[in-house]
Amino acid sequence: MKPKVAFFDFASCEGCQLAILNCEDILLDILNLVELVEFREALSEKAPRYDVAFVEGSIHRDEDIERLRHIRSRSTYLVALGACACNGNVQARSNYVAPAINYGEIYGEEARNRVQVDDGYWQLWSHTRVRPVDAVVSVDCYLRGCPIVPEEFLHLLDSLLQGTQPYFPPIAVCVDCKKKENECVFERRETCMGPVTWGGCNAVCVNNGYVCDGCRGTLPHANIEAHVQLMREYNIPEKDIRSRYRMFCSAEPIGKGG
Ligand code: SF4
Ligand code: SF4
Ligand code: SF4
Repeated sequence: MKPKVAFFDFASCEGCQLAILNCEDILLDILNLVELVEFREALSEKAPRYDVAFVEGSIHRDEDIERLRHIRSRSTYLVALGACACNGNVQARSNYVAPAINYGEIYGEEARNRVQVDDGYWQLWSHTRVRPVDAVVSVDCYLRGCPIVPEEFLHLLDSLLQGTQPYFPPIAVCVDCKKKENECVFERRETCMGPVTWGGCNAVCVNNGYVCDGCRGTLPHANIEAHVQLMREYNIPEKDIRSRYRMFCSAEPIGKGG
């Protein structure tokens, strides 16, 4: 019997699901190996249980928490799909802004009332905290990045079909970057989150002339203290260092939380 696979989205742009749909050349092969039972981007079917549930998006509201727990209770294996689900992503920056400031103080009372009245979905100013998926339920595997790397999705599916655990080595983006023989941006007095960020993306941003902003989250063994010190030596103001770490909300620079 084919394993039942389902996809769910919470607060996200759905770009990670699209990244999967974009695997057009092998999508049919995948569909031959699994039974896709829920996928709002492509199907209207529903199912009572899943062998593998992919959950995209960050968790904001009480009803999201209930829905996510319900998904978890029906799933054998649950995957956090993309930076929103893994780290909270850019929307979690709002955790550092007092809700009263979000609408009332910036846009005025009229805007606050309009937001409140128009649609419950947009009651952002009343939300308490944006969370990654593992702040609510247990997660069996993380597919990192904004968006995910399709090859990692395929590796995960292939491993599960063979009855093994997928493995994503905890190496820094710098390792990918060195393999690509890029000039390090620190050499030209720019700064980069690559040394503390979970690799596996082939350093795609640096390859294309930018720096790593850390979308894949902070490595568990990252030497954050040394990285922060390096940023200070490059005269990056403390608030900007905090902001760089908070961009994808994966870690707080040492001693600078809150
Ligand atoms: S991780 Fe990025 S691409 Fe994926 S759903 Fe979130 S915002 Fe979209
Ligand atoms: S450019 Fe960034 S990712 Fe590349 S080696 Fe330098 S610090 Fe690491
Ligand atoms: S280089 Fe950094 S920001 Fe770019 S995809 Fe990789 S982890 Fe994300």
